[in-house]
Amino acid sequence: MKRESLLRTWVYTALGAALTIICLVSRSADVRDAVSVIAAAQLLPVVLIAYMAKRIRRTFATLFGLAGVCFAVAELISGQKSMFDSALASGLALAAMLGLAAGTLLMVRDRPLLGQRGVSADALIVGLGSWIISWVALVHPLLHRPRHQIPAALLYGAYESVAVLVLFGAIVLLLGFKRRPTSLLMIVGALGLNIVGDIVGALSTIHHVGFGLDRISPALYVAAYFIAGAALLHPSINTLWVAPRNAHETGRLGRVVVTTTASVLPVIVLAATGLQGHADQIVRSVSALLLALAVMSRVVNSIRSNTAAQEALRRGAQTDPLTGLPNRTVLLDRVNACIGESWDRDVQPALYFVDLDRFKNINDSLGHAVGDEVLEMVAQRLLGAVPDGAIVARLSGDEYVVFEPTAQSAAGAMDLADRLLAVFREPLALSQGDVFVTASIGMATMSSSSSSTPEDLLRHADTAMYRAKDAGRNCIALYDESMHERVAHRLAVETALYRALDRHELRLFHQPILDMETGDVEGFEALMRWQRPDGTIVSPAEFIPIAEDTGMIVPIGSWALLEALGQLHRWTVDGICSASATISVNVSPRQLADPHFPSIVSEALARSTVPAGRLWLEVTESMMIAEPELALATLRRLHSLGVRVALDDFGTGYSSLSLLQKFPLQRIKIDRAFVHGVADNPNDRSLVRTIVAMGRSLGLDIVAEGVETVQQLQVLSDLGCKKAQGFLISHPVPADAMRSTVAALERLGNVPGLRALTLRPTSVG
Ligand code: C2E
Ligand code: CA
Ligand code: CA
Repeated sequence: MKRESLLRTWVYTALGAALTIICLVSRSADVRDAVSVIAAAQLLPVVLIAYMAKRIRRTFATLFGLAGVCFAVAELISGQKSMFDSALASGLALAAMLGLAAGTLLMVRDRPLLGQRGVSADALIVGLGSWIISWVALVHPLLHRPRHQIPAALLYGAYESVAVLVLFGAIVLLLGFKRRPTSLLMIVGALGLNIVGDIVGALSTIHHVGFGLDRISPALYVAAYFIAGAALLHPSINTLWVAPRNAHETGRLGRVVVTTTASVLPVIVLAATGLQGHADQIVRSVSALLLALAVMSRVVNSIRSNTAAQEALRRGAQTDPLTGLPNRTVLLDRVNACIGESWDRDVQPALYFVDLDRFKNINDSLGHAVGDEVLEMVAQRLLGAVPDGAIVARLSGDEYVVFEPTAQSAAGAMDLADRLLAVFREPLALSQGDVFVTASIGMATMSSSSSSTPEDLLRHADTAMYRAKDAGRNCIALYDESMHERVAHRLAVETALYRALDRHELRLFHQPILDMETGDVEGFEALMRWQRPDGTIVSPAEFIPIAEDTGMIVPIGSWALLEALGQLHRWTVDGICSASATISVNVSPRQLADPHFPSIVSEALARSTVPAGRLWLEVTESMMIAEPELALATLRRLHSLGVRVALDDFGTGYSSLSLLQKFPLQRIKIDRAFVHGVADNPNDRSLVRTIVAMGRSLGLDIVAEGVETVQQLQVLSDLGCKKAQGFLISHPVPADAMRSTVAALERLGNVPGLRALTLRPTSVG
């Protein structure tokens, strides 16, 4: 297809070349005329072909087609005379050129980067410049010929100026391309040849220059028409209408050169040629004045737009585009300036780090547009809450910083913190409806005695903000030195934890789960331990939350899953547990939110060859509350694998009954907080009774955790809870201690007294 049209282009060019040569060598003026008319007339069918092949748009096809017709008729009318001998021919040529000018203008406008930067002002300069030249060289001499026709001469002068303008437009377009399309190069060539033809024609007619110039001019026109036609057939013609994908502007320098030439050349022409009477003087002066005005306004405009661009750049570098608040750089500058001032003044500048709570939820559930709306509204509210002279900045995402350089005392600084928190008490009236947002605020003050840098102050407030988050969010925390130590410690733990997995420092301990009715060990819960190189054992309560925060929990959790399943397999093979014993593995919210989690589970099952029915995953309700849809989808996928899921720590959170109905759960684990009081505290006992009743009615398996005394075990059994786990039965032990642990439990189960004690029905109220 592309090759075909390429071929057509070149055949066409060859045809044009042949006709051009005929025009050059033919002695017959009639032949030359006929060739000229054919050359102009061929434009119409070519435009139609290009339009039908969807290479040019309808507007352009119409404009170019009409131009072709006008040129053809003008050639026909002017016949053996020059075009400027006939007002009608000149008028038609002018109309044709205006059509081309309109098309060029539309194309320039379609490329916004070209259009923006004063192209029309440049075009005006070029148009005026070429008018001056054509007045001096063409129009004015024509007016003085014996058979002079004033309208024809004026129309021709206008046509010439427009022709130069179109050439200018085409050059501007050409310069705007990084890879210049051949078709556009051809069009520029055609327009250039056309103008050269005009000049040659004018020279031969006006000044009666010989050398066969009268033949050259029509030949140049013929060549120009055919090159234009070939350009329309060239496959690259459609790139002219495709807006540049990665908009960047090239060729500005080229345009400056063209425009400057257009404003300088006329001046030279005016200076080099003598005045020819009154009319000439008036036209020259007015035209020169207009040109000067155009150049001046162009210069003023470009200075203005440069200044505006610089201003916009400066503002962009200093403010956050969404809220218009100053950014980190400006903030730090201001704080820096104040540190210098506050030495000799009795003030205690304070910096507040304001971080929205759970902003990600808003973004995820309501969409980013709403998220942006929230951020803008919060910015407005903060601005409304701070005293004059304070600065509100936005650092990134949902982090704002307020800096109050004139706080008089610690108490005054705290007041502002309270006011900032109060900003969030009223719901935000968004387009979607009201939304409640809270924030955690960290505050740090600067005293003249401490030598902190602005960065220190910001970091301290940030640290305090995390403290506020840990303390349950929606509150204020004031920075003190101890926080720094905590942060440093945490950082050290974080870093060490990153390597713990590779260095094989993680272990699994296991705690048996006892079936109280049969006295059998029905399964084990895998609990992670971190053995530091110095031998100390770190509790999961300390490192799991950190792993969860940093995301390390995902690889660590996958490891635990595979390790636990492998262990169950080995115990089964070694006869330590029955072939139906289960393993319970804890899963944190972050793992559950990982879309790959179900496949990680199924791969671990496959690798360990343990049937899915022997695996329990212990999850807490937080994920089901925070992201119910995602949690439901993941749990369903796990369920379809045949894996069972236990709701851990039941009773501590919302513990809503609806969770148990809505999600595919098969077990609840009664939190040890209630088990602890079950023997002595009537409230705990009735709560456990309710949980057991509820669980049974839903057909769920129930396990009590943290059983430490025989009394607790007894009461639990009486309340109908059939499975238990806790220090009474066994502490979590390393895998290699499990054989003796299970053996001991079996012995205990065989002691008739204990069995009788644990399972004796009692009436508990
Ligand atoms: P959890 O899932 O509720 O685990 C039960 C915790 O209670 C364990 O603490 C266990 O040692 C302890 N425990 C068992 N029986 C008794 C008892 O009779 N009395 C008392 N006071 N405590 C008892 P541990 O091993 O320190 O684990 C703490 C928490 O860390 C676990 O709570 C679990 O949420 C998390 N965790 C442990 N291992 C993993 C893991 O591999 N992955 C994830 N995501 N979390 C884990
Ligand atoms: Ca657990
Ligand atoms: Ca638990």
